[in-house]
Amino acid sequence: MAIAKRNFDVVVVGAGGSGMRAALQLAQAGLKVAVLSKVFPTRSHTVAAQGGIAASLGNVNEDNWLWHMYDTVKGSDYLGDQDAIEFMCRAAPEVVYELEHFGMPFDRLDSGKIYQRPFGGHMQDYGKAPVQRACAAADRTGHALLHTLYQQNVKANTHFFVEWMALDLIRNEDGDVLGVTAMEIETGETMIFHARATLFATGGAGRIFQSSTNAYINTGDGLGMAARAGIPLEDMEFYQFHPTGVYGAGVLITEGVRGEGGYLLNKDGERFMPRYAPTAKDLASRDVVSRAMATEIKEGRGCGPKGDHVLLKLDHLGDDVIRQRLPGIREIAIKFAHVNPAEKPIPVVPTAHYMMGGIPTNYHGQVVAPYKTGPNEIVHGFYAVGECACVSVHGANRLGCNSLLDLVVFGRAAGKQIIEDLHGNPHPKPLPADAADLALSRLARLESQKNGERVSEVGDAMRHTMQKHCGVFRFPDLLSAGVAEIKQVAERVMHTEIKDKSKVFNTARIEALELDNLIEVAQATMISAEARKESRGAHARDDFPERDDVNWLKHSLYFREGSRLDYKPVRLKPLTVESFPLKPRVY
Ligand SMILES: Cc1cc2nc3c(=O)[nH]c(=O)nc-3n(C[C@H](O)[C@H](O)[C@H](O)COP(=O)(O)OP(=O)(O)OC[C@H]3O[C@@H](n4cnc5c(N)ncnc54)[C@H](O)[C@@H]3O)c2cc1C
Repeated sequence: MAIAKRNFDVVVVGAGGSGMRAALQLAQAGLKVAVLSKVFPTRSHTVAAQGGIAASLGNVNEDNWLWHMYDTVKGSDYLGDQDAIEFMCRAAPEVVYELEHFGMPFDRLDSGKIYQRPFGGHMQDYGKAPVQRACAAADRTGHALLHTLYQQNVKANTHFFVEWMALDLIRNEDGDVLGVTAMEIETGETMIFHARATLFATGGAGRIFQSSTNAYINTGDGLGMAARAGIPLEDMEFYQFHPTGVYGAGVLITEGVRGEGGYLLNKDGERFMPRYAPTAKDLASRDVVSRAMATEIKEGRGCGPKGDHVLLKLDHLGDDVIRQRLPGIREIAIKFAHVNPAEKPIPVVPTAHYMMGGIPTNYHGQVVAPYKTGPNEIVHGFYAVGECACVSVHGANRLGCNSLLDLVVFGRAAGKQIIEDLHGNPHPKPLPADAADLALSRLARLESQKNGERVSEVGDAMRHTMQKHCGVFRFPDLLSAGVAEIKQVAERVMHTEIKDKSKVFNTARIEALELDNLIEVAQATMISAEARKESRGAHARDDFPERDDVNWLKHSLYFREGSRLDYKPVRLKPLTVESFPLKPRVY
């Protein structure tokens, strides 16, 4: 089938914070940049980020980037690569000031400086006491960030392709990446975006779980495309459960609530976190708080008729503080939990939130995978940033506010790297004759399938399997049954049918295409989790409750072909400072 083609210097897939920060760097350098997005750019999930962006500005208390680096290494349960973590924490103040100069409307202190609030796991002086490091625009920091970056991109003449969905990666025989195939959602028209560099910034995949804080569009498309093109996925067993999703709805209540002084209660009205984390209490790292909540519930101290949630109390902050610092949370509590938080506590449960794993990259955003000369080489023409990438700065558990930071630090770094890589390399490599075959065969499968199951049914089966078998605590029998079950679901995905084609035409087709990606992420997560026989960060195994640095201080690599796993060492050596030695992790 003939398929239209367009040429760009760079094609960026994804218009969240990371894609837009990279695109801005590229467009400002005069490159011809296409940014594809399934939704209008400012509707990307980054818009939902509430709490803040971490940087050791020291506007409220003394702070320094080394403390931030220490917290991030510790937060990652030592699985984070220390070179990348140093790179990020050192750059943080600079990228935040850059955002300020782009016009981002941060909240202010009386002194006029950027307002900062405490956040989980961010401490002063190597873990001694909580520090105010999260730079915030009320509880709408992502909204402010994304709109600022969008406006800057419009000014820089970035070409936006809105409601275009990338379908598959294009690689030639040598494995070089040459662009993507994509489809316009409204018309179903397909096109090849041929480019000298391809950057994935497709965000997370929270929709593999039943209960998630993520938007419906967070379907792991970048990971699905990468996996189908033979790129491994790194550290997929590490999925963060945020402690405070609204009970029953999954909508996020930012950790900023606890940063402002809110705390958790069990059914006896006990503030239980000090029992689990004597120093940081309710502001311990997310994995620690989620496990504490799950334990309270398991041991019969949960709230409500089913004893299946706990309460987040913030009425003592007073109506004024809530309205000024947490206006969005007030709205969410009223709308989704039917309580006014100035009067009553909010019912909350740990909810799937953030994917620490992703497409393996170095700290320049270059994808590192098996390539011409070895197992971990830079793949020509391919870059990834943001939640879809695994740099790895978050290791086994991400600290709050370090994701927005990751987006802008590595978005900018990847932009700079691409500019350098394209220099003196003016022509794209030619497209292979079969460039669009993978995408077109997926579309053809969906068109021709008869008597298949509904996409939504199979999607529900996947979400149910993930939620039951791969949650906050992981049990050996559930994990091995989960691997078998998720493989069966994957088989069913190959035989879904788009019913009533004439009526629901493209939405059903888009859901089917998304399910192809979700199921890759789900399998990678379950299989990597079953294999890792230790507890580290967000991966908490009932049968191996301890961290095992002798056998498991290594990154997992999941290969789609044959569902195979491989491992690679953690980069313990930072760029300029001494390594932080491994220690037991207590808060
Ligand atoms: C509710 C919530 C609150 C959060 N709060 C915070 C916080 O306070 N601080 C913090 O640091 N982190 C926070 N996080 C995490 C952080 O917001 C995300 O990790 C981050 O915004 C992800 O940004 P991104 O650029 O990687 O992708 P996203 O912002 O998710 O954007 C992905 C983009 O990719 C596009 N896309 C995806 N697939 C395709 C495809 N196939 N074709 C074309 N386009 C595609 C989408 O349209 C979208 O434009 C929060 C997350 C959530 C869910």
